[in-house]
Amino acid sequence: MADNVEELQFQAETRQLLDLMIHSVYSNKDSFLRELVSNASDALDKLRLAAFQDKDLDADTSDLHIEIDIDKDARTLVVRDNGIGMSRDEVVDLIGTLAKSGTAELRQKLRDAKDAAASEELIGQFGIGFYSTFMVADTVTLTTRKAGETTGTRWQSTAGATYTIETLDDAPAGTSVTLHLKPADDEDALYDYTDERKIRELIKKYSDFIAWPIRMEVEKRTPATDDEPEQVTVEAETINSGKALWARPRDEVSDDEYKEFYRHIAHAWDDPLEIIPMRAEGTFEYQALLFIPSAAPFDLFMRERKAGISLYVKRVFIMDDCEELMPEYLRFVKGVVDAQDLSLNVSREILQQDRQIRAIRRRLTKKVISTIKDLTTSAPDKYATLWGEFGRVLKEGLISDGDNRDALLEISSFASTHDDEKLTTLREYVERMKDGQTQIFYATGESRKAIENSPHLEAFRDKGFEVLLLTDPVDEVWATSVPEFDGKPLQSIAKGEVDLDELGKSDDEKKAVEDQRAEREKDFADLLAWLKGELDEQVSDVRLSTRLTESPACVVGDSFSISPQLEKMYRASGQVLPTSKRILELNPEHPLVTGLRTAHAANADDPALGETAELIYGMAVLAEGGELADPPHFAKLLANRLTRTL
Ligand code: ADP
Ligand code: MG
Repeated sequence: MADNVEELQFQAETRQLLDLMIHSVYSNKDSFLRELVSNASDALDKLRLAAFQDKDLDADTSDLHIEIDIDKDARTLVVRDNGIGMSRDEVVDLIGTLAKSGTAELRQKLRDAKDAAASEELIGQFGIGFYSTFMVADTVTLTTRKAGETTGTRWQSTAGATYTIETLDDAPAGTSVTLHLKPADDEDALYDYTDERKIRELIKKYSDFIAWPIRMEVEKRTPATDDEPEQVTVEAETINSGKALWARPRDEVSDDEYKEFYRHIAHAWDDPLEIIPMRAEGTFEYQALLFIPSAAPFDLFMRERKAGISLYVKRVFIMDDCEELMPEYLRFVKGVVDAQDLSLNVSREILQQDRQIRAIRRRLTKKVISTIKDLTTSAPDKYATLWGEFGRVLKEGLISDGDNRDALLEISSFASTHDDEKLTTLREYVERMKDGQTQIFYATGESRKAIENSPHLEAFRDKGFEVLLLTDPVDEVWATSVPEFDGKPLQSIAKGEVDLDELGKSDDEKKAVEDQRAEREKDFADLLAWLKGELDEQVSDVRLSTRLTESPACVVGDSFSISPQLEKMYRASGQVLPTSKRILELNPEHPLVTGLRTAHAANADDPALGETAELIYGMAVLAEGGELADPPHFAKLLANRLTRTL
């Protein structure tokens, strides 16, 4: 090995991935070419931009292009670009490491993937760019020189645990990737990547829209004439049309073309669920082409995740990851925006202030929401997929985007007691509301099961009132900040007073219910007053409940207090909140409660009563999935009490 050749190890998960690729479980091997061309195109975009922003950059941008060379005898295929190139460190970082976020998940999933089909799905989900070359090549060599640098770098790996890296004194600007193709499969001419026709076909299919010319040397044959023998000349031919997809009318672009374009800009391998072309003329002229993916990326909830929109100005790539063009809760939307009237040297700082950008963002947001709304009726299955993948993110908009809140409520759906599996929209909920019901009831909790078993739900279930079952952490927050839907306030079943008995009743009937209650309050007045004193440190009040049918007691918040789930969330994020005391509600029908009343009336000084009070409160906290302040103490009380029953 020469002096400056360094041999390095791949990271463990990269090696696993390579292994997968080498054994080429992915059935669509053709994709490797799309990935290489996509990278080359990005590199050209970056160089043009860098040269524009830095006039001193020593780079030739006069003929930016991609070149494909095939050599049948050597069985090699080369994809070359004269783009931005990479420094030695970048090669190690970008090519030698699996730098994508979500690596930890990938590692786990790879470990779990048992068969080829499962691995194939993983490749699809992760969108593995450069490494896809190992599906078709056993050795890959990458030579690159970064714009502005004098020395180049060669990286090479013969599929395995290591790669070599070496500094080159002279290398052409840009990057070239040479694939030493695996031995030809005689049976299957389909996979001959040294066949000119095959390459043409693949470029047409996957990369036609690439804005830079993709050239290939082709043989031109002039047939023999009487005077001259057949002539064979070799000349470079551009084999893509290079038309910007977003600038073409929708009916001229096939779904397949859109799909490949989506994969290019989103660096994804899935299909778009929905394609949204847009065009605005007038003061702010722009074209946009947006995609809603069909599957959530692994990093949807990670901090370092990238925004999905690339900005172009008059067909010139300006930046990817343009956060200013899409609100955070629509971060899963991918696409491009091509604005006509921005300056080419627009910076992020300028973008943040720009009126036009803000106007575009508003329009895009509305368009995405209305597209989803259309799906709810025109393609319910697609909508269901979308909501399943991105519902949690969309719900963030209910909190952050007041302007579109109503529209977002219209496209949201939730689990509900109405159906075990199917989600419901708020509109459907409202249509099913019982006579006299004025509020939309909801419950929050860790899981559907936990909510279903919580005491708060008892009366709602028994009396047939539908309750939305909200289990995402974000639910807690939006449900308390959204005042109403369609004029109907949202009401947590664990907060405030609920009066199911009075709903839909006539005034006379209501009066009867109230009289009966007043009577009962009187019967229990002594017990309630005593309990309030006894549990003074834990609760702000003790009252009779109208929401319990089976359990003896539950704890409820007043209309403004936060739920135990939210409290937990805040605590987990390191925020300390003043602990809010809640209200203990008793079920006046329950034998434990009536028994306690009798015992208290007979001997208010019995020390066992105080323990019973603590036990009742503790059970109520546990039943809603809350946490006890002093679990050992509770366990001891319970053990003592059980011992006495033996
Ligand atoms: P992705 O394109 O999704 O980032 P890839 O595996 O395709 O993932 O490429 C990894 C990174 O390597 C790219 O983001 C880019 O920074 C760098 N890279 C790959 N090919 C080239 C190239 N031809 N020129 C410059 N940089 C490249
Ligand atoms: Mg790529």
